[in-house]
Amino acid sequence: MSALLTESEFEAIASSIDLPSNAFINGKFMSAKSGKTIPSVNPATGDVITDVAACQVEDIDFAVGKAREAFDRGYWSRLHPTERKHAMIKLVKLMKRHRHELAVLESIDSGKPISDCVEIDVPESLHCLEWHAEAADKLYGKISPSGDDALGMIVREPIGVVACILPWNFPLMMAAWKLGPALASGNSVIIKPAPQTSLTALKLAELSIEAGIPPGVLTVVPGDGPEAGGALGMHPDVNAVSFTGSTVIGRRFLEYSARSNLKRIVLELGGKNPCVVLDDADNLDYVAEHVAQAVFWNMGQNCSSNSRLIVQKGIKNDLLEKVIEKTSDWRTGYPLDPSNKLGAMNTREHFNKVMNYINIGKEEGASIILGGESIDIGNGIYIEPTIFDGVGRDMRISREEIFGPVLSVIEVDSPSEAISVANDTEYGLQASLFTSNVKQAHRMARDLQAGTVTVNCFGEGDISTPFGGYKQSGFGGRDNSLLAHDQYCETKTIWYDLSDNDQDADLS
Ligand code: NAP
Repeated sequence: MSALLTESEFEAIASSIDLPSNAFINGKFMSAKSGKTIPSVNPATGDVITDVAACQVEDIDFAVGKAREAFDRGYWSRLHPTERKHAMIKLVKLMKRHRHELAVLESIDSGKPISDCVEIDVPESLHCLEWHAEAADKLYGKISPSGDDALGMIVREPIGVVACILPWNFPLMMAAWKLGPALASGNSVIIKPAPQTSLTALKLAELSIEAGIPPGVLTVVPGDGPEAGGALGMHPDVNAVSFTGSTVIGRRFLEYSARSNLKRIVLELGGKNPCVVLDDADNLDYVAEHVAQAVFWNMGQNCSSNSRLIVQKGIKNDLLEKVIEKTSDWRTGYPLDPSNKLGAMNTREHFNKVMNYINIGKEEGASIILGGESIDIGNGIYIEPTIFDGVGRDMRISREEIFGPVLSVIEVDSPSEAISVANDTEYGLQASLFTSNVKQAHRMARDLQAGTVTVNCFGEGDISTPFGGYKQSGFGGRDNSLLAHDQYCETKTIWYDLSDNDQDADLS
């Protein structure tokens, strides 16, 4: 990615963008049949930036019908995989050309700092789409070990119409995580973005026309969750849903599936992820940087946020001092100013939820050693990076996903107590571990109940590693890596009987 532009250059882009607002169905932009819209608010200013189509059941029926038609006619599903790859790579090139516009759209729609949008969200989304596009013509089927008298072919086929239900915290990246493998596998894909952050998915749809992705293959239906998301969940002609969001709504999709056509459901859900730091961790300055990044990045609105710091007594005070020192560099402010590392919270409702948790933490008797207040900047909604010390493992701020810039520090005496506290949660998405003892690192990485464990760093792996949750953090599959393609494919056995006996029998 190129060097960051200045705030006034980003402002100029923001004021010149033709904001997308209509749904994208069958290769065309159209308003919802009811004419209803949902205002899209810039959380940094409180201004309505555009009104986005609010799709309802009749729009979803129409969109699913067109997606099914495209799938059945084979415009994409039976296209040679190399041609699918070329179209997707063309889309990536177009996105690259429009990268500043995509970054600014993401920032004004979600409150994310522009530096993250330019340096992380947009390039990682491009890399993800390109990586899966490249896989399109490199995935092989299998032949079963069934002896010389039979040929058992195990082939992968696109599952059909795939609905992707997205959250608001990484709007473009979550779209890419799902779109990449689903499109590369030959499906018709319908994206239902979160209503407050639909703009980058709609821009991506606009670029898909020039990339040559046929009508009906990529659809974007913005709309309210229960209405548009529920209609997709219940639709008898949707074959699979890939959902990223909260555990409570994820459960609904299992119900929708049971009550409709048993469509496949894959859920990527919430987390209350532990960061375990043992007494023997090397270089506390380095550890502190990772602890701050793990909890405050994206204002803590991150499913893999390490919102619980589980630290051994001997180094706790030194580490916390360093985390506070590192956090002093994290300037919060207007998202289009590239020197700000933290932006606005996504919505007023979410801001209130996080502030309420800060009050709960105070009432539960934990002590605030950093932050704890909202920040008054214009009409925006900002919260200080906040650290609670003296958190008990049964407090609500230790057990519930806050999804904001709030760290709960839990002191432990031993590595075994650290594991016991870390695993004492209904979630199991991600965990980080810091220790200089290699054997201990390996053993504890196995003991931590999480889909991803990072050792001596915070992270989520990369596009080549599967991402998803144990326990109530996930269900039915994984995003990223080649495993992600499995979510969007059926497995078919094609069996040939090659035995002489059978041929004789057929001739007689
Ligand atoms: P959410 O409230 O569960 O919403 C997710 C999506 O579901 C939105 O598009 C939402 O639309 C829709 N929805 C809501 N109610 C629905 C219903 N009754 N039927 C059908 N669809 C419905 O989650 P969120 O607040 O957007 O996102 C935050 C959550 O996502 C956190 O828990 C976070 O941990 C999780 N997350 C997980 C991952 C991962 O990879 N595991 C990644 C990112 C985020 P509306 O907005 O209109 O309600």
